Amino acid sequence: MTPVTDSPFRVAVVGSGPAGVYASEALLDWSDNRDPSARGIVVDLFDQLPVPYGLLRHGVAPDHPRIKGIARTLEGIASDPRIRFLGNVEFGRDLTLDDVRRHYHAVVFSTGALTDRRLGIPGEDLEGSYGAAEFVTWYDGHPDSHPEWALTAERAAVVGVGNVALDVARMLVRSSEQLEPTDIPEHVRTGFGSNTTRVVSVIGRRGPVHAKFTPLELREMGKVEGATVVVDPDDLEYDDEARTLRDSDRRVGQVCAQLEKWAGAQREAGLGTADEAEAAALADGKRVVRFRFHRSPVEILGADGRVSGLRLEITEPVPGPEGEGGRVRSTGRTEDLPVEAVYRAVGYRSAALEGVPFDHASSTIPNDSGRVLDSPGGQHLPGLFTAGWVKRGPSGVIGTNRSCAVETIGRLTAELESGSLPEPAEPDPQTVRDLLADRVADLVDGDTWLKIDAHERSLGEAAGRERTKLPGRTEMLDIARSTRTSRTSS
Ligand code: NAP
Repeated sequence: MTPVTDSPFRVAVVGSGPAGVYASEALLDWSDNRDPSARGIVVDLFDQLPVPYGLLRHGVAPDHPRIKGIARTLEGIASDPRIRFLGNVEFGRDLTLDDVRRHYHAVVFSTGALTDRRLGIPGEDLEGSYGAAEFVTWYDGHPDSHPEWALTAERAAVVGVGNVALDVARMLVRSSEQLEPTDIPEHVRTGFGSNTTRVVSVIGRRGPVHAKFTPLELREMGKVEGATVVVDPDDLEYDDEARTLRDSDRRVGQVCAQLEKWAGAQREAGLGTADEAEAAALADGKRVVRFRFHRSPVEILGADGRVSGLRLEITEPVPGPEGEGGRVRSTGRTEDLPVEAVYRAVGYRSAALEGVPFDHASSTIPNDSGRVLDSPGGQHLPGLFTAGWVKRGPSGVIGTNRSCAVETIGRLTAELESGSLPEPAEPDPQTVRDLLADRVADLVDGDTWLKIDAHERSLGEAAGRERTKLPGRTEMLDIARSTRTSRTSS
């Protein structure tokens, strides 16, 4: 038996999205920078899906190959032999907190956030009212998503002015031909083939200076073939506070400049109002993405159980003391937007994990720089850590998760170094694998994932793409099973 002090530290990372992979990388970096005679580290990287990379695979829009390229970086990290991928394992059901404590020195929870926030207004449960994540997971081929999506609404509203709203709106005006080179599964490609969307209204409850868009993502909206962006010139009349923000914050300035550019093009074409610009684009056979600011949704209207409109309260800015601007109030006026579908892109929420503290107010695991606390502001639970969106909420770009994970792993390795974490009762890596093999009928390990990966690549290659994703869990596990069968029979 290996003496305890020679065996590597064992860390479980639960959730194999960007935060989980970056946390694994930071653990290996720490180990690589130690004295070669010191104890090393090994990582078990778990995921409830049979495939790794979380939001990178099932959250980034398929027409964003630039961001999807980060997958190669994550693949490079995850291919280190000190990282063992164990997929199709649900924390709380297949692997409990007690198991983790018995088999590992420490655990990092990096389970992300992919549940939609609700608006809390009447009509949200009507047919045709969706959370952005429902749509995103469908078009990104998440194994547990809806098998079909009816892209039958001619007019849709997207509530929220963040980057998810841009993704949803941009995808709604895409044709299946435009998505031909992407990795979407075949059933999604077919779904876009019958896309009848004509107008998508993107709704901001405050003004353009408070939109959360990043300039690059906003610019991309203007590059969709067959679609025109329409802006209401009235939305670009800034009060003093908005003007100051527009001129002092680089991102805000770039976002406003882009919106002003579109409004300017409308003006030059002799189209004085947004209604005229929309009508002209439709007459020209274009699809339209129309930004509408200072409108707050108060009710989703319905007829026969289906969405028929969105009631919007028109808002105005409330002048605030310096540094406290950005608030709006109702003008008392409303307008009804005729739409057949409403997508809420007002933020994601994380889900609580069995046995792990959870702050329902912020939908995060209470933590201090990544050290899990028993309650918000409470005591640290030794050996438990968190990284990514479930640690800090759904904000930032993918790279933000790297610095977030580095912070967490700094705390974790400090505890390893101090010797404050007890030795696990069952440190043998095979025992946890055996335990999971007993509980999970189709445990996916790194080799099996590589087979699924190779299969998807070969499906893609046949159609001239880098990859075509398998449509569901069953198809993935069928490949996993065929792998095992061929190995057993050889
Ligand atoms: P977000 O950036 O926080 O935007 C949420 C939007 O919802 C805001 O405009 C917010 O308006 C609005 N909202 C919230 N509650 C509302 C309500 N009750 N009524 C009306 N509007 C409401 O969140 P996100 O778009 O989900 O994005 C999450 C993170 O992922 C962000 O950091 C984003 O940059 C990132 N992301 C990046 C990319 C990319 O880089 N390509 C793509 C997708 C997502 P208020 O400001 O008024 O609250």
